[in-house]
Amino acid sequence: MKPAVLDMVVCPLCQSTLRPTPYLQDGTWIEEGILTCENGDQFPIIRGIPVLIEPNLRLSILGNEETQFWRRHAAEAGGASSGSAPAADDSEKRSAAAVWGYQWQDFHELWQDTAGVEQFYRWLAPLRPDDLRGKTMLDAGCGTGRHVLYSSRNAGLVIGVDISLATRVAARLTRGVTNAHIVQADIYRLPFRTETFDRIYSIGVIHHLPDPRAAYLNLLRHVKRNATLTVWLYGRENNWLAASFVETIRAVFTRRMPLSLLKFLSLIPATILWSVIKFFYGPVNWLAPAGARHFPYNTYFMLFNRLSFRHQWMNVFDKLNAPIANYYRRDEMEAWLKASGLSATQLAHTNDISWSLHGTRS
Ligand SMILES: [Zn+2]
Repeated sequence: MKPAVLDMVVCPLCQSTLRPTPYLQDGTWIEEGILTCENGDQFPIIRGIPVLIEPNLRLSILGNEETQFWRRHAAEAGGASSGSAPAADDSEKRSAAAVWGYQWQDFHELWQDTAGVEQFYRWLAPLRPDDLRGKTMLDAGCGTGRHVLYSSRNAGLVIGVDISLATRVAARLTRGVTNAHIVQADIYRLPFRTETFDRIYSIGVIHHLPDPRAAYLNLLRHVKRNATLTVWLYGRENNWLAASFVETIRAVFTRRMPLSLLKFLSLIPATILWSVIKFFYGPVNWLAPAGARHFPYNTYFMLFNRLSFRHQWMNVFDKLNAPIANYYRRDEMEAWLKASGLSATQLAHTNDISWSLHGTRS
């Protein structure tokens, strides 16, 4: 953890300022320590990541590592400890954290994919790199931190937040980037003051949450006035393959499978998809681009055509492993934008199959 992040974060329980007590440091980087708020709430910094999650949910995500952390530092922490039992209504958050933690620690290297930056800006539509310049940004649900890395090339400061152990990959990736920070936190209970950020974005995350609309509206609270919120979500139109066929397989079978087995089995559809794109969509787009435009998923698959096989494998695995997935129609997205009260709203039909919702807080 870089100390500069302390200017941004607050206690997720009472919103008061956090004070660090470092136990293990490497230069200014705090590898292990405790953050204490004005009301005495304590949060661990583990493997360089401040874990600003309420105690019971935190324990169910960190498990043994948290128990050992408090045992190691019992004397310094003055008797503070981890939570006791996971709250029942947190089960969906816990399973989401388990899936994303597994997926992103495994597919950690995707940031190297050169088409990834283009993909990022398609999702972030209508924002362009220049719109990020000098801005204070939040990536809500940052996974491996690859978008935090891309944003940091233009932003003034960017914080990536994720509930899962994917934060470990993200923290490693951005450790040397002075304007990028990673925080482990719950999107429903963000450790920031209201009206903190110039640009908040959330890519491919909130359609996997128990109450996506509430999560969307909650993000709004942290957007400054005249600042923007951009959210990318799965779409239903033109997307029968994912929204109907794959979604049925996920809901009935694969979401309950052991993740390592599902990852292995995902190789089969990923290989079929990769072959169809390489040996059909690619050549036809080269030979007859005007005709190819009318094929289903053409825009999306031609982007896939430039991604690595591992990236496509992850995409297939990702569609099958989620505990929850929601696909949205245009009228639903328009209703969200209306409810947000944002001005200058734009709804982009990204890759012809998904939605980027964008607006400015007035
Ligand atoms: Zn507090």
